[in-house]
Amino acid sequence: MIDKRKFYIDGAWVEPAQPRDLEVIDPSTEEPCAVISLGGQADTDRAVAAAKAAFEGWAFSDPAERIALVERILKVYEARKEDMARAISMEMGAPIDLARTQQFESGTWHIGNFLKAAKEFQWIRPLGSHAPDTMIAMEPVGVVGLITPWNWPMNQISLKTIPALLAGCTMILKPSEIAPLSGLVWAEVLEEAGVPKGVFNLVNGDGLGVGTQMSTHPDVDMISFTGSTRAGIAITKAAADTLKRVCLELGGKGANLIFADADDKAVKRGVLHCFNNTGQSCNAPTRMLVQRPVYDQAVEIAREVAEATKVGPSAEEGRHIGPVVSEAQYNKIQSLIEAGIAEGARLVAGGPGRPEGVNRGYFVRPTVFADVRPGMTIEREEIFGPVLSILPFDTEEEAIAIANDTVYGLTNYVQSQDGAKRNRVARRLRSGMVEMNGKSRGAGAPFGGVKASGRAREGGHWGIEEFCDIKAISGWEVEA
Ligand code: NAD
Repeated sequence: MIDKRKFYIDGAWVEPAQPRDLEVIDPSTEEPCAVISLGGQADTDRAVAAAKAAFEGWAFSDPAERIALVERILKVYEARKEDMARAISMEMGAPIDLARTQQFESGTWHIGNFLKAAKEFQWIRPLGSHAPDTMIAMEPVGVVGLITPWNWPMNQISLKTIPALLAGCTMILKPSEIAPLSGLVWAEVLEEAGVPKGVFNLVNGDGLGVGTQMSTHPDVDMISFTGSTRAGIAITKAAADTLKRVCLELGGKGANLIFADADDKAVKRGVLHCFNNTGQSCNAPTRMLVQRPVYDQAVEIAREVAEATKVGPSAEEGRHIGPVVSEAQYNKIQSLIEAGIAEGARLVAGGPGRPEGVNRGYFVRPTVFADVRPGMTIEREEIFGPVLSILPFDTEEEAIAIANDTVYGLTNYVQSQDGAKRNRVARRLRSGMVEMNGKSRGAGAPFGGVKASGRAREGGHWGIEEFCDIKAISGWEVEA
């Protein structure tokens, strides 16, 4: 079994203060595949102290030096592609091809976008021609705690580590204890790229341990968190006494509005998107709202796509979907599928239990429910598995009302060939992002939500700003 029990603190791989092992379970086999350590207060304190000691030097370094470090990180990251893809595939069950492409590539994409944004970033600028001696400086927030989930590990870790480095922050990363292996490869990448001692530290641990210790720590200035809404609330409360900044990227329950004039591929695209990464994406379009004239046809297409979706182990190459991450997630998804049936939604494909012929691994059947009504449990709750709910609607107003009737507000989707309608609807949807007609967001666009999806903005220029405090300086000596 792979032994990954050390932490990366102050530029060195160190033993935990107290041994506390946790086995990492391969969700395709239900067997342990690695062992890590869960840190405690002494480990958190040690990492925070290292980050605090490194702060002055890094905060006042030349931005060009920080950009050069990130350029080296990108090179080393690319060289470690296969190690990274294998770690992600094993720890959270992404099929190896998906791990190599989408999971790994999300890191290269974000790093590239951050580099572009950092090169254009105005670290200090005049307020305006009316006040030439007032300068606005963007300064690093300080020591930051980064807490990440298991579903898109490199996506989340790169979205936090890279802008924190570029802004001049020092940091402690706590990856998900369920999928910690990619985070450890990431620490090796940063070490090889030459990150200065203490600037980046990694301590593994769980939410109640290291997660809470960082959230309450007086020397941590900010927590950047991605994960469940439940943990986001707990962190916000834990951080209150030390008044630290808390940036949250939380869950979602995206609506995909399919109007009668949508293109032919819209339904298929929506189902595949919902099932991608085995449905374990916060921005998954899990509620498909279909206009009545094309409703029956859409349900039929969704059934065909679900039945054609293959499920298989993460180590196998190909375009199947993998298992869900853990036994807890498997059980949660099963009980939500049961709730859908009990509450009267029409099961069109999939259903409870494992796919036929599979008796091991956390594999879920690609599932489609039709005739879902607003307010049903499967329409309200984030399922985080390959489960699609389809609801009919008649008018544009009704579709907008159903889409917005959720505590979440991360990404909504619109499919229509009427450009004016698309634009109108996009402005009415209460979410941080709206994607239309299958067009993904451009490079450097901010990722984030509103309401219970959190209010952080990650990626590109906005992602760097998240890690900056704004300082106004007056009486600045203006060069003639
Ligand atoms: P989770 O909230 O259980 O865990 C996420 C991380 O938080 C882990 O590292 C965990 O150890 C830590 N944590 C848990 N409780 C904590 C606490 N009380 N204090 C401090 N840290 C704590 O979530 P998960 O199950 O790993 O991830 C799935 C969730 O993440 C889903 O709800 C999903 O929608 C959300 N998510 C959101 C985004 C986004 O950008 N909006 C992206 C990916 C995932």
